[in-house]
Amino acid sequence: MSFYFYNTYTKKIDEFIPICDNKVSIYSCGPTVYNLAHIGNFRSYIFSDVLRRSLKLAGYDVEHVMNITDVDDKTIKNTCEKNPNPCLDDLRAYTKPFIDDFFADMNILGIDKVEHYPKATETIEPMKEMLNLLLDKEYAYYKDDSVYFSINKFKNYGNLSGIDLSSVKTGLRYNTDEYDKDDIRDFVLWKGEKESEKIAWETSICKGRPGWHLECSAMIRNIFHGTIDIHTGGVDLIFPHHENEIAQSEAAYGEKFVKYWIHCEHLLVDGKKMSKSLGNFYTLRDILDMGFDADAVRYLLLSVHYRQKLNFTLEGLKQTSQTIIRIYNSYNRLADINASNSNEAKEENINEIMSKADIFKKDFLDALKDDLNVSKALSVFHEAIRFTNQFLDEKKNIISSKSKEILTDLFHYMDKLTNILKNSRKITANDKDDIDTELMTLLDKRNEARKSKNYAEADKIRKTLEEKGYKILDSPTGSKLQKINL
Ligand code: AMP
Ligand code: ZN
Repeated sequence: MSFYFYNTYTKKIDEFIPICDNKVSIYSCGPTVYNLAHIGNFRSYIFSDVLRRSLKLAGYDVEHVMNITDVDDKTIKNTCEKNPNPCLDDLRAYTKPFIDDFFADMNILGIDKVEHYPKATETIEPMKEMLNLLLDKEYAYYKDDSVYFSINKFKNYGNLSGIDLSSVKTGLRYNTDEYDKDDIRDFVLWKGEKESEKIAWETSICKGRPGWHLECSAMIRNIFHGTIDIHTGGVDLIFPHHENEIAQSEAAYGEKFVKYWIHCEHLLVDGKKMSKSLGNFYTLRDILDMGFDADAVRYLLLSVHYRQKLNFTLEGLKQTSQTIIRIYNSYNRLADINASNSNEAKEENINEIMSKADIFKKDFLDALKDDLNVSKALSVFHEAIRFTNQFLDEKKNIISSKSKEILTDLFHYMDKLTNILKNSRKITANDKDDIDTELMTLLDKRNEARKSKNYAEADKIRKTLEEKGYKILDSPTGSKLQKINL
C-alpha cells in the first residue's frame, strides 16, 4: 500500500509516488532566528518529523532539508538596534544564540536531525544566480533600488493558495518580508541596501539582500537541483510565501518545483493562533520550568492529525503526561520481566504472538500511510499495550525469552514514530502530579476571579503563585505562568 497525502496544490488526497523510486526529497520551512521558537513553531517541526519518520518506517530513504532564515527584516532590524553600523559578523553574532537554542529544543523534543540545515547567509551565490535568471527571462524588474517579481507574468500564480488574481492592482509592490494576508502584489526578490545597514551583497543590478521567498527557493535548488517530492510548512505559509516560491522557482527553471505540498494546521491558545506577535505563546523552557516533561509536549503535539487545529491547554498536557506514564509502565514491566524458558513459559503459542505483533505493526503503518492518521496509529499502539498487559497478567509474569523479544520489538517499532521510550525510566507514576494540578488550578481560579471582576481574590491568588515561584504573564489572548528566576 502506498502513502496518501492531502496535497494543498491539487486540493485532494493524492497517492504518493516519489520521483525517484525509494528516495524521498523533503524541504521544510524552518525558523527565522530572531527569537526563541515557541511550541506552536514546534508543532510544525514535529509534524515534519512525523512525516519523515513515517516514510522511514515504510523503508524510504529520506533526504530532508530544513532552512535557517538568518537574514530577513526582523534579524536585520534587531541587529541594527544593537549595533549602529552592523556588518555580517554582527548579524551572525546576533542570530547564533537563537540558532543554538533552536537545535537544543529540537533535540529535547526528540525531533530527528535532518540531512541539511542550510543558512540563508551561506547560500547567497545560488540566490544571485536565481535572481539573474529571473532578470534574463524578464520575470523580474528593477525599481526604486530593489528587484521585484512581476506576478502577472507567471500564468500559474495563485494555483496553490487559490488567491483571486482579479483584485491585483498592477504596479503595487511589497519590499518587506511581512505581508498583509490576501493582499497580492509584486514581491521583492532583492531588497536594496539601506544607508544604515551594512548587511548587503552586490549583484549584477543592485546591492542589497535577498527577499525571504527567494531564500527558500534558492536553498532548495542548491541542494536538490530539480523538482522535489514534498514541501512542508504551517498553513500560514501557503500565501504568500509558498505561492511566491513556486512562481520564482518555476519561472527561473521552467520545471515543476514541488510534487506534494503538505501543510500543518496551527496550535491555538483560546481559539487563536499561538504566535509571537499575539504574546500568547509558551516556549519549551516555560513548559519544562512548570515541571512538565518534554516527551509529554512531543506526544501532545504529534497526537492530533496535522490538518486539525490543536487547542493547547495545560490540562491537556497533564492528561498527555498520564498517557505517557501508562506507556512507560507497560514497557518497563515488560523490560523488567525475567523471561525464562520454564515449562509454564513453553506453553505459549509463539506463532500466535508473532502474528498478532505483525498485525499491530501493519495496522500502525497503514494508519500512517493514510494521510498520516496519527490518532489511529496511536490507538493501535494503545491496543498493543493492552494486549501486552493482558498477556503478562495471564502468564503471571512468566514468559519465554522469545515472547519478550517479539513484544519488546513491537514497542520499539511503534516508538520509531513516538520516540519517547528512551526516557521510560525518567518518570514514575507519582512524579509531578501534585505540582502541575495545583498550579493549573490556581491559574484557572485566578482567571475566573478576574472574569467575574473579583480583583481582590485574583490578586490574592497571584501572590500565592508568586510565593510558589511563578509569575503570571497576561496578554490580550490569555495568561500563562513563568518560573521566577531567583
Ligand atoms: P516563523 O518562525 O514564524 O517563520 O515560523 C516557523 C514555522 O512555524 C512556520 O512553518 C510556521 O508556519 C510555523 N508556525 C508558527 N506559528 C505556529 C502555530 N501557532 N502553530 C503551528 N505552526 C506554527
Ligand atoms: Zn520557506
